[in-house]
Amino acid sequence: MILNKLGNTGIEVSRLCFGSLTMGPFQRDLTPAQGAELFECAFSHGVNFVDTAEIYGTYPHVREAARLKPDLVVCSKSYAYDRQGAEQSLKKALDGIGRDYIDVFLMHEQESEHTIRGHREALEYYLEMKRKGYIRAVGLSTHYVACMDGALKHPELEVLFPLINKKGFGIADGTADEMLERIRSASALGRGIIAMKPLGGGHLIGEREEALDYILSLDDCIDTIAIGMQSIDEVEYNCARFSGEAPDPELGDRLRQTKRRLLVQEWCEGCGVCVGACHNHALSIQNGRAVVDPDKCALCSYCARVCPQFTIKII
Ligand code: SF4
Ligand code: SF4
Repeated sequence: MILNKLGNTGIEVSRLCFGSLTMGPFQRDLTPAQGAELFECAFSHGVNFVDTAEIYGTYPHVREAARLKPDLVVCSKSYAYDRQGAEQSLKKALDGIGRDYIDVFLMHEQESEHTIRGHREALEYYLEMKRKGYIRAVGLSTHYVACMDGALKHPELEVLFPLINKKGFGIADGTADEMLERIRSASALGRGIIAMKPLGGGHLIGEREEALDYILSLDDCIDTIAIGMQSIDEVEYNCARFSGEAPDPELGDRLRQTKRRLLVQEWCEGCGVCVGACHNHALSIQNGRAVVDPDKCALCSYCARVCPQFTIKII
């Protein structure tokens, strides 16, 4: 497994970052012990970087990972916008993963220069905690091209975690090429780049090979790529691909045969836009949230393309 410098942060990370959202309560709901088996497999192939977030509910899993690998690099994120919220979030992260520092702490899902400004108080707190040694690098995650433009104006945001995949699936305000242009500019300035959603939230699973070829071809400007993994097969497959090796063909076959389902995540706002996009009438709004009828769902992803919140995944 290749290790890369995360921009100018001084932190070294594996090219493959283990995204932990998929093992948490919103998706597979694995126990921390089950999650630890997946982490252990990834670590045996040289992965040294795990991504989590306050909202994922996976701090107990990451705690197990940190126990297995004391030099593990950990990234987490928070929606806090003021000092008090930021203080609570950082404490929750450190207590949750059982450490007195965290490597990367980010403002979660920022949208533009305006939201960066709106979270300034939280950001100032994180920068203060960085000076005191509790955080090694500060930054933001985003699905927005406009946010990358905003982040480029703030050199204190050392790590950027943008959404990018070959079809631009999930980029809220632009194309893959537009996002890539900002990623290249940020990388040239020494920002650490963690790419998220190379498989488009599961919607590119049918084109896994091509989607991975695309993201792995961007080594010039992406330091590490976060992928959610929920089985040993997925870990083995991705570790081989990220190490430049051909995965065992049987692994690829098993992954293709894995039964998938549509998942509407907790933060669905019940706007109903997706319902009109489903020609199979598989979606309805119930109790303020979109609900899928799995017997009618053809996993075509049309609904996910129109969801303004990017809350619909295939897992
Ligand atoms: S479009 Fe997205 S946010 Fe709106 S109801 Fe559907 S899943 Fe929920
Ligand atoms: S994936 Fe396709 S069939 Fe399934 S709910 Fe969405 S639009 Fe309907």
